[in-house]
Amino acid sequence: MQKSLLYFPTSKEYYEDSISLYSLQNMIQSLPLSIPLSREIILFSRRNIMRGQVCLRCLKAYTLSKAKNLDLPEDFEIISRIFKCETGHNDYYLDKEDLEPIPE
Ligand SMILES: [Zn+2]
Repeated sequence: MQKSLLYFPTSKEYYEDSISLYSLQNMIQSLPLSIPLSREIILFSRRNIMRGQVCLRCLKAYTLSKAKNLDLPEDFEIISRIFKCETGHNDYYLDKEDLEPIPE
């Protein structure tokens, strides 16, 4: 069986590492992130909001992989430092209905 079928974040886990869209937007504006990455964070958050909250673990995983893809090492460093939570859930993160592997 595929690993992806075996794992889904529990609601408790989700709640403990989540942030409201409003707080997230304030946080992003206060950080010296590049415009492309800030935009990616906002777009990800808008499509993954659930009960007013965004999962920080999935957001962190997505954002770090984007920073790597877009070759933005300074942004990568900022996100690694600011987001204290774990990265994704057991090597995966959720983007809408898709379970994506976290790149090495
Ligand atoms: Zn998550």
